Amino acid sequence: MILTTHILSGAALGANIQNPYAVAALSIVLHFLLDILPHGDYLNKKSRLWEFWKVAVDLAFGFALIGGIIFFRSITDESTLRNISVGIFFSLLPDGTTFLYFWMKMKFLKPIKNFHEKLHCYKNGAPEREFRLENNLFDIFFTLASLLLLLFWRMS
Ligand SMILES: [Zn+2]
Repeated sequence: MILTTHILSGAALGANIQNPYAVAALSIVLHFLLDILPHGDYLNKKSRLWEFWKVAVDLAFGFALIGGIIFFRSITDESTLRNISVGIFFSLLPDGTTFLYFWMKMKFLKPIKNFHEKLHCYKNGAPEREFRLENNLFDIFFTLASLLLLLFWRMS
C-alpha cells in the first residue's frame, strides 16, 4: 500500500481511539491487514536508491493532507493531536523496518521483513504488484474512506 493510505488510516484510528497504546498496537495490525489486500507498489526488489523520490512525494502528500485536515477542523486538542501522531507513526513503522533492513542493512529485522512480504497475496515483481490504477483500487478506497472519516466524523 502507498504510505498516504497508511498515514491517513493510522490518523483516522488515532483520532477515534483514546488510549495511545491501543492506537499504536491497532495501527500496526491495520498496516498488515491492509497489506493483505491486493495492491501494487511503486517500489519493488529491483528498485534503486534514486527511486526513493517517490517515497518523498508519497510522504509529503500524506502529511499535507493531514496538515489540511488539522487546519480545516481546527484540531487543537493535545491528546487528539498526540493520538493522530501515534497512529501515523505506528502505521508507517512496518514499512520503516523494511527500509532499515534493505538500505541500512539491519539484518536482525529479517523475520519482520519476511513476515511482511509473505502477507502480500502476489509475489514481489508479479504484474499484479505493478503500481497502476486497476491494481490500487483498495488504496484509493481506504484513502478516501479515511479522509472522509477524518474530515466529517466526530472525533473522540
Ligand atoms: Zn507494508
